[in-house]
Amino acid sequence: MEKIASFTVNHLALLPGIYVSRKDKVGDQVLTTFDLRMTAPNREPVINTAEIHTLEHLGATFLRNHPDWKEKVIYFGPMGCRTGFYLILAGDYESKDVVSLVQEMFYFMANFEGDVPGASPRDCGNYLDMNLPLAKIVARRYLDHTLNHLTEENLNYPA
Ligand SMILES: [Zn+2]
Repeated sequence: MEKIASFTVNHLALLPGIYVSRKDKVGDQVLTTFDLRMTAPNREPVINTAEIHTLEHLGATFLRNHPDWKEKVIYFGPMGCRTGFYLILAGDYESKDVVSLVQEMFYFMANFEGDVPGASPRDCGNYLDMNLPLAKIVARRYLDHTLNHLTEENLNYPA
């Protein structure tokens, strides 16, 4: 079988950032998949499952309530390697187009107070696997170390 496009990115040179992972055409519509990379792959610790699960619930809630973007959100979920998330939007976008959306989302996560949305046995398949305090620290770190200091290197995959 052929190696899929996301496995051809050189993960040893990949920095935390916001990348366009791929674009797909479905009928006349383009879908853009973003790679929201939170840690340097194979060089920094990955995100624990409880934290990434909490961020997933918070991020999905944020995106699907966003007045400007909610109609375009197709999917948001964690990478299996636990170094970041995929975000799929309806439309043909570049990384720069979603910088403020992603900053706003991680600001929401980093400052969230109260009960994690959907963290109940009826609403989630593993509702006890949550850690809001550490999730907030992880979100804050991505903001402070990456999202608030984005350069071209954090917006375009390494050659
Ligand atoms: Zn869940």
